[in-house]
Amino acid sequence: MKTIGLIGGMSWESTVVYYQLLNRLARERLGALHSAELLLWSFDFARIEALQAAGDWVEAEKAMITAARNVEIGGADCIVICTNTMHKMANAVQDAVDIPLIHIADATAAQIKKSKVRKPLLLATRYTMEQDFYKGHLRDRHNIDVCIPDNQGRTVVHDIIYNELCQGLILPASKQLYLDAVSRAREDGADSVIFGCTEVGLLVSQGDFDIPAFDTTQAHAIAALDFALAP
Ligand code: GLU
Repeated sequence: MKTIGLIGGMSWESTVVYYQLLNRLARERLGALHSAELLLWSFDFARIEALQAAGDWVEAEKAMITAARNVEIGGADCIVICTNTMHKMANAVQDAVDIPLIHIADATAAQIKKSKVRKPLLLATRYTMEQDFYKGHLRDRHNIDVCIPDNQGRTVVHDIIYNELCQGLILPASKQLYLDAVSRAREDGADSVIFGCTEVGLLVSQGDFDIPAFDTTQAHAIAALDFALAP
């Protein structure tokens, strides 16, 4: 089994989910006492969030490259960035190491392509919803065109991620706001939902929707374990 290098702590609330999923998947596939071989770099998220909010993506990229090099030196065979937003610097991170980066949007696209959906709604941080690094990756590499909530909806979705989910707060009223955002998008033709932030699955799940939901955390963990177990 290969060693998966996780860059997490963004936030640790979702890194916990990665840890659990990877180990459960290893047990399901290999049986008994098997678990995943992992190496984790976990950031203090307050530091990363401050750089994001200040728009200091240069410093943020430096921090990500340092983390990636450290897990590579530690013996990791691949890099898994446990957040959608920080895939903004996925190319720079990949260029800085000699081991492959397993891209969360590629993992998600693989799941989406197994279905027949045409217009997924992307629920994510404002950075992921508004900038092109993620939507563009899905469009240009996978021919998947996503839609996003209106400006007010984006504010609600973004604020709930940072003010609640990343701080371990799971509130029914916020879940309702997410469900409302999806209902509105469906009126505009959305036929599926991407949980495009690794904490979104803490608030809503496939069972809340009668359209397909794609959880990027789950898709990413599956892709990482596939890599680790490939011959
Ligand atoms: N975990 C989140 C994501 O998947 C947001 C936190 C972050 O900015 O990294 O985008």
